[in-house]
Amino acid sequence: MARNKTAFIYSDREPTAEQFERIQNLIRRRYGIKELKFVKDEKITTGFKLEFDNKLFDWTIEGRLHQLTSEFDTLDSYDSKKSVMPLMRKMVAGFELHAVSEEIGTVDSVRDGIAFISGLDSAEYDEILVFDSGVKGLVQDIKEKQIGCILFDSDEFVSAGSKAVRTGHIAGMPVGEDFLGRVIDSLGNPIDGLGEIDADDYWPIEKRAPGIIDRQPVNTPLETGILSIDSMFPIGRGQRELIIGDRQTGKTAIAVDTILNQKGKDVICIYVSICQKASTTAALVNKLKEFGAMDYTIIVNSPASDAAPLEFMAPYAGCTLGEYFMSQGKDVLIVYDDLSKHAVAYRTISLLLGRTPGREAYPGDIFYLHSRLLERSAHLSDSLGGGSMTALPIVETQEGDVSAYIPTNVISITDGQIFLESELFFSGQRPAVNVGVSVSRIGGDAQSQAMKKATGTLRLDLAQYREMAAFMQFAGDLDAASKSKLNYGRGLMNILKQKQYNPIPRHRQVIILVTALAHRIQNMDEQQARLYLDAVCEKAEREDEYLCSDIDGNGSFSPEIKQRILEIADSTVV
Ligand code: ATP
Ligand code: MG
Repeated sequence: MARNKTAFIYSDREPTAEQFERIQNLIRRRYGIKELKFVKDEKITTGFKLEFDNKLFDWTIEGRLHQLTSEFDTLDSYDSKKSVMPLMRKMVAGFELHAVSEEIGTVDSVRDGIAFISGLDSAEYDEILVFDSGVKGLVQDIKEKQIGCILFDSDEFVSAGSKAVRTGHIAGMPVGEDFLGRVIDSLGNPIDGLGEIDADDYWPIEKRAPGIIDRQPVNTPLETGILSIDSMFPIGRGQRELIIGDRQTGKTAIAVDTILNQKGKDVICIYVSICQKASTTAALVNKLKEFGAMDYTIIVNSPASDAAPLEFMAPYAGCTLGEYFMSQGKDVLIVYDDLSKHAVAYRTISLLLGRTPGREAYPGDIFYLHSRLLERSAHLSDSLGGGSMTALPIVETQEGDVSAYIPTNVISITDGQIFLESELFFSGQRPAVNVGVSVSRIGGDAQSQAMKKATGTLRLDLAQYREMAAFMQFAGDLDAASKSKLNYGRGLMNILKQKQYNPIPRHRQVIILVTALAHRIQNMDEQQARLYLDAVCEKAEREDEYLCSDIDGNGSFSPEIKQRILEIADSTVV
């Protein structure tokens, strides 16, 4: 890189000839720089600053004091029993001014929230830079002669010729208990008008995921309160389950219901909203407040009006907060709504940075990016506190095409997917879970005994029903046996319909499943079946409180419990 062979001295008054010569001699001897120029700077009143060769020496009183105090900070590491006075004396006597910043870069160009800087030879990936206007940026691209940096603020405040210095800090964000119940932006700043948030710590936004030894198997359920999911695609704490479907198929609704269902279960929820309309997120926050779910929830919001770099950062902000709580042994649920838009934000940044586009114009490392993010969800070992982070990433498909780039990527990273289908949604089957292609690969181990036993052959029965229904479309008259099978299947499909904001507790799910799978709603229409099942649940809650609390508590199940539920069902009349 071309070196600046002239040194500049900045101050509000010109140095005397003697001072000037002394400095000139010093830099010639030590750094081999011959030329020294004086630049008048009204802001520097208590000394001067010297800049050359990408180095800045701060000889102002504030600068020297600052360096001295930061050296004193290292005294903390000394044995407190020893007297600190001799150490301090030694330190003051031996104090030597170092360059404040080893490197100062110059902005070559700025466009679309991205600055290209030369002169920062040893800047690291993900390092924070500070520009002379105070704007901060994140190093995202390192080339031989230039680095690309995404800006966290409007690019109006940075222009060609602006200076940028390294901070030596990898991007991080504040974390702490006080974030609960708050709405924040991608950098951790509050945006709900409720005042400052007191942070307990500052954590890096990119962190290596826990290794195998640090983890334990997923063995505790994280119930969504949605019958079709909890019964057939159970999710465990620490799992990553993708919610995938076309636009407006109820993806967000599933995530929100899951958050509502965590009330009173000691799970901290984090909802990351990426590139959605500000009004949509505001409505969601209001809904969570209405149901009393905001107390244990944090919203990270990067609306569509944010610049691509901020949208790109949002999931990391959420994940970092999640990791903080997980490290304290708590259970966390994090929703990324949605990763398709996150991928688009990253594509925008990458294209602006001049990276080679790959499939569907996404940069080649988009897979690595998402896998790094989702790998950070875990169920930590007991020696690390036993906390967990369950991730529900959301991906939007176009016309149900799951073979597009981002959907296939995220499907292969996650431990299963809940596939939502427009056709089902519009036919009134809501939530529109496609039972055939949805799957949960590890949640079965975490499912409660009661749910596992109660679900029985539900999935198989539904598969048979689908086959038969498709076939029967072409058949005319049906025999009684086929009719009865069709009725039974239709009844099962109906019990899986569930209103929004209406999570069903475990004992009710078990009662509904046991009753329906025992053909008790065989000859009822949808309305009747619904009224009947509600009545059975209410009766069970009224007459056999222990049965319900047992199922909710330890999730126990036995032939006697099944028998008891059927007794209650058979004695219920509506
Ligand atoms: P987008 O692609 O716009 O993000 P989405 O897939 O997240 O949409 P939602 O916003 O969750 O879908 O839901 C779409 C609409 O369907 C909303 O109006 C919502 O109220 C309605 N809806 C979702 N789930 C249900 C349900 N179980 N019962 C009735 N209506 C529902
Ligand atoms: Mg949505």
